[in-house]
Amino acid sequence: MADLAYKRILLKLSGEALMGREAFGIDPQVLQRIADEIKSLCEQGVEVGVVIGGGNIYRGQKLSEAGMNRVTGDHMGMLATVMNSLALQDAFERIDQPAKVLSAMPIDGVCQGFSRRGAINALEKGRVVIFCAGTGNPFFTTDTAACLRGIEIDAEVILKATKVDGVYSADPAKDKNAVKYDRLSYKEALDKELAVMDLTAFCLARDHKKNIRVFDMTQAGALEKAVLGKDEGTLIHP
Ligand code: UDP
Repeated sequence: MADLAYKRILLKLSGEALMGREAFGIDPQVLQRIADEIKSLCEQGVEVGVVIGGGNIYRGQKLSEAGMNRVTGDHMGMLATVMNSLALQDAFERIDQPAKVLSAMPIDGVCQGFSRRGAINALEKGRVVIFCAGTGNPFFTTDTAACLRGIEIDAEVILKATKVDGVYSADPAKDKNAVKYDRLSYKEALDKELAVMDLTAFCLARDHKKNIRVFDMTQAGALEKAVLGKDEGTLIHP
């Protein structure tokens, strides 16, 4: 078995990561592949916390641009993350990987509420813990929830799964001279105004000296390489 760089990780999946080639919602095949890859890490002894976004269903800002009250829109966005989390939990159950959804908003009868102790107990029992409903508050993002939960559970790294294989000097889709960074300090990323995450999330992780690795999870096996500490994507470090 390969040497793993981390014992406990927090994986942030955007809602779009579940969408695959669909225009909305969840692609069941993509969902199952993600569940399989995470299960393989658990079998190697890694404790895995997951935060899922909701952008494949609703985003508060988009709804408010269309005229809805922003707080209501954000509540809908957070509920979208609950749906994604339940779908991922179901995908784990189908492959006999124990998993538990813990919600920042109380939703009795559907999933348990978040507590740090409950999360750590479940992780120590080898369950994947899926944190849903973001931070539970409007005007935040699930990137902030990922950094918050990553700090609370003392994850050794926050893995941000995207559709791009790291952080670039410019948007690689628009600028062919864009250069990919293998490593960046928080200061370098801020000085260069590189958009890794929203600033609330980024500064929270920086203040708590967490490493963040940005990588492309659409590539099969990329998650395992990131956990093996291989130079997958871009590492942002204190
Ligand atoms: N959201 C929120 N508070 C949070 C996290 C999320 O209000 O703490 C809402 C917000 O409307 C956001 C939506 O949930 O747009 C979905 O989250 P996000 O946009 O972060 O999802 P992703 O882009 O990762 O799919």
